Formats: sequence, C-alpha cells, structure tokens
Amino acid sequence: MLDLIDSHCHLDFDAFESDRAQVVARAQGLGIHQIVIPGVEAENWPRIETICHYHPQLHPCYGLHPYLAEQHSDDDIRKLRDWLAAHECVAVGECGLDYRKQQADRQVQMKYFAAQLDIAQAANKPVVIHSVRATSDVIDAIKAYPGLRGMIHSFSGSFEQAIELIKLGFYISLGGAVTYQNAKKIRATAAKLPLSCLLLETDAPDQPDAAHQDQRNEPAYLVNVLACLSELRNESAEHIAEHTTANARELFGI
Ligand SMILES: [Zn+2]
Repeated sequence: MLDLIDSHCHLDFDAFESDRAQVVARAQGLGIHQIVIPGVEAENWPRIETICHYHPQLHPCYGLHPYLAEQHSDDDIRKLRDWLAAHECVAVGECGLDYRKQQADRQVQMKYFAAQLDIAQAANKPVVIHSVRATSDVIDAIKAYPGLRGMIHSFSGSFEQAIELIKLGFYISLGGAVTYQNAKKIRATAAKLPLSCLLLETDAPDQPDAAHQDQRNEPAYLVNVLACLSELRNESAEHIAEHTTANARELFGI
C-alpha cells in the first residue's frame, strides 16, 4: 500500500461542498493519507480551519493568493498575522506572483507576496508559493529571506531555476501538468530533478491530469501524477512515493 501526501489541494473550495467526505475517502482508499490545504483569501480561512478540525489528516495553510490581489486589502495582512498567532498551520500561503496578462498589477501582487514572506519568516513557517511566468522575480524575492524554506507549487519554470530554488531551500512540487504529452519542458525537468527535492500535488479542483482533462480534479488522482513520474523517471512508484512523502513530512512537520 502506498503512503502519499497531496502537498497542495484546495479542498475548501465550493467544488467539493457536496461530496468532500467522499473525496477524502476516495483519496485515503488509494493511499493518499494526508492532504495540505493552502489558503487563498481571508474569507476562506475559517472554512479551512473547520475542515481540518474534522479531518486530522488534512493540514491547513493560511495566505493571500496573487489571483485575488485586487481583492485583498492591507487589513488582510494584519489579519493574517493575527490569525497565525491564534491558529495552528503547517505553512504560510499560498502567495506568490502570476504574470499572466489577466492577473493583477505586478506591484500590487509583490506587496502581498513580500508581506507574506515577512510573516512566514517571523513565524518560522515554510511558505507555499504560486509562480506563473514569474519565477525569476520569485527567486529574487526569496533571496532576501535567508533561511526561509518552502515549496514552489505546480512548478513551471526551467530546470536551472529549479536547481537555484533547491539551493535556496525550496522543494519543487509537481502535479497534473506533467501528465500531458506536449508539456515537454516540465516533463524533461521532472525526469532529471533529484528526488530529494520533489513533492507531489494535485492542485484540485484545478489542473486535472491528462486522463481527467476538463473535469473536476480531486486528490485521488494524485496516483496518476505518480504513475506518470514513475514512467518519466524510470523509478518505481513505491520509491518515488517514499521520498516525496518523506519530503512533505519534513517540510510541513506532519
Ligand atoms: Zn493553489
């Protein structure tokens, strides 16, 4: 029986409102014994807390997602500090930068990102980072926080950037994107990175693997990411599971 951790799954989202317990049970049945839930906005933190309270195998993170940068306020930064002082969590996030055109102003995103890096460092917590077309700015930002650790979720940068991030103390998290045949760059990167720096995730309900394209993603599908990596890396699923689970336990203290 495999022992896996989904290192990034938005189980608090409305997409799971009607069947969350079954979704968790399906994952457990396939060996995905623990799930890390990142926070995206202040409004959702209480829901994450409640969900994790009822399912001890689920682990909360609290943060402000760059997607919603236009909706966050300076007050949310203060709220995050207060919330972390009063609530258990395994990491700060997800936070970061997203430079796709439709996303918020880069300076606004950077303000919230830097504030959360400050908070994570002060709280001595790892940080969960979202980075899309922004990896060089993310690397520059975290260089200002020596000793800060964390993960780059759904990594989409280059092999060289991954190595730089690993040297800075970060794990590289891989999800459904690697299962797409045409995702040549990330597949090549996933094939050659050291196992000692990899995590597995689904990012459910988003980013389904190729077999579930256009469907709701769920943590049970982590086994498809694992099977794909096993093929790409020519290593057994058991071997990859053992290392990525140990990595997640180490990073999140779970
Ligand atoms: Zn996410």
